[in-house]
Amino acid sequence: MDYYKLGLKSGIEIHQQLEGKKLFCECPTLIRDDAPDFIIKRKLRAVAGESGKTDVAAQQEQIRNKTFVYQGYSDTTCLVETDSEPPHEMNKDALYTTLQLSKLVNAHISPIVQVMRKTVIDGSNTSGFQRTALISRNGVIETSEGIVRIDNLSLEEDACKIISENENEKIYRLDRLGIPLIEIGTAPDIKTPQQCLETAKKLGMLLRSLPNVKRGLGTIRQDVNVSIKEGRRIEVKGAQDLKMIPKLVELEVKRQLELVKIKNELDGKKLNSLKIFDLSSLLKKSQSKVILAAFKDKGKVMALRLEGFFGMIGRELQPNYRVGTEFAGRAKIKAGVKGVFHSDELPNYGISEEEVSLIKKELKCSEKDAFVLVAASENKCKVALSAVYERALELFEGIPKEVRRAQEDGTTRFLRPMPGAARMYPETDIPMIKTNSYAVELPELLEEKIKRYQKKFNLAFDLAEFIAKSDKAKLFEEFVKSYKTIKPAFIADVLTSILLEIKRKYQLDPRKLTDENFRDFFKYLSEDKIHKDIALDVLIDMIKGKFDIKKYAGLGTEEIHKIIKAIIDNNPNAPMGALMGLCVKELAGKASGKVISEELKKLTN
Ligand SMILES: [Zn+2]
Repeated sequence: MDYYKLGLKSGIEIHQQLEGKKLFCECPTLIRDDAPDFIIKRKLRAVAGESGKTDVAAQQEQIRNKTFVYQGYSDTTCLVETDSEPPHEMNKDALYTTLQLSKLVNAHISPIVQVMRKTVIDGSNTSGFQRTALISRNGVIETSEGIVRIDNLSLEEDACKIISENENEKIYRLDRLGIPLIEIGTAPDIKTPQQCLETAKKLGMLLRSLPNVKRGLGTIRQDVNVSIKEGRRIEVKGAQDLKMIPKLVELEVKRQLELVKIKNELDGKKLNSLKIFDLSSLLKKSQSKVILAAFKDKGKVMALRLEGFFGMIGRELQPNYRVGTEFAGRAKIKAGVKGVFHSDELPNYGISEEEVSLIKKELKCSEKDAFVLVAASENKCKVALSAVYERALELFEGIPKEVRRAQEDGTTRFLRPMPGAARMYPETDIPMIKTNSYAVELPELLEEKIKRYQKKFNLAFDLAEFIAKSDKAKLFEEFVKSYKTIKPAFIADVLTSILLEIKRKYQLDPRKLTDENFRDFFKYLSEDKIHKDIALDVLIDMIKGKFDIKKYAGLGTEEIHKIIKAIIDNNPNAPMGALMGLCVKELAGKASGKVISEELKKLTN
């Protein structure tokens, strides 16, 4: 595809979590998986804003009338997260980090920061709004295909994590609510899918150059917006994997092209008005599982006719994603129904050819018409079919204004209508902040840091990159400075590869190791109280809380050698495996299996 000719315009929005304390309280930014200590229940209501208008998205959410359940922890969430107490002062470290990033991209920093409230009514914020503060504007980064402007850099609070959802209830957890998030929004300057990837990578690199950004899965989220000349700006949320970004853009362009084609074909035509038919008695003997299940729940089978739509519903918009998938997606989100069938895919799913003819006759379908069928409770059928009809009408307009969710294969699904503008109003509980009192120092860029580690500490590129990108870079610098006798490569290894090995081979969580644990480790190592060959065993003992220096003290290679030699001498005819077993038993926790086996081989040869 010639993206220049198609007029592709794309922008990226990145959300990056920060380490430390929450944005408006002193709780830690700890994500937890253990059982919560308490729950609270709330309902949210949409109200008109100052302009007198009520947000469309908010209204739609209220129609669903859900109860929101929030799970909290008494030691790591407080009254701010439950919205029972006003927010505290803004976290100064988080603000400083955002100011640093602003400088890195040459953005213009606002002299005064005003925190705003952004309406959110899906329940993911207990207050019904998200606090957000614009920190700087008009930055710029360079890519190989030209510059990309940074429209805005904001600091905001993360929302609750969703645990589960059913028809009546949404369950959220409060641990993630309030974690500081840096939001970076670029201008729509990106012109190709590859440039989109390059931009995301570059911004990711800048973020990781900052001292306190969170690392790991789920700590950074990328949204991409895409439009083509004849199309419309569509927001695609949740690109998990950077590598998927070019495909995501490509497939959204394809979807828009297909929808424009359909719009042109429909030009001058009109859709029949909405009429819903009850086919329950007509299909009462049907063997279709979905229909049988609906009847069992005292439900119905209902359908609508779409004039002139024959062949249209099966049209592919993205690989394995058809107009019919779009219909079904809307029906599912608006009414929660699963079984949506259309004439382009029938007979199938237990619905016979004979039944299809009966349906067509009942709906007065001509050869050029199509129909859509739903089996569920009467009310759900009606809501679902109305949603399908609405989506069919939108085909005449081209591309509907909506927010879509990225799938793993690069296709997208309808998520919700595009929220209207003017959803923000000032947060009056937090005083305005003057930024000129901050003396902002530029952080060292990640690329520079990797180069420095290679040059100054003689690390191989991979190891230099590994340690520079990890959250242990600061500790690494501390130890190379304090312990000149220990090789920097070994220090880097302990802080990266060995931790990875502990996780992979021993299924233990190396995150349990504190900075103090590492400080102890290198101190004992420098004092020759532990040997570097048993680093793994020492760290494992520390994770298990079983570390005791007395156990290791004085046990150098010499000692290990002596013990193994004694075992061999006492068991002259024992086979290798048995000797190994005896040595491991004797030296448990004092020498690693690797060291024992090597020593054993040396001594028996
Ligand atoms: Zn708190």
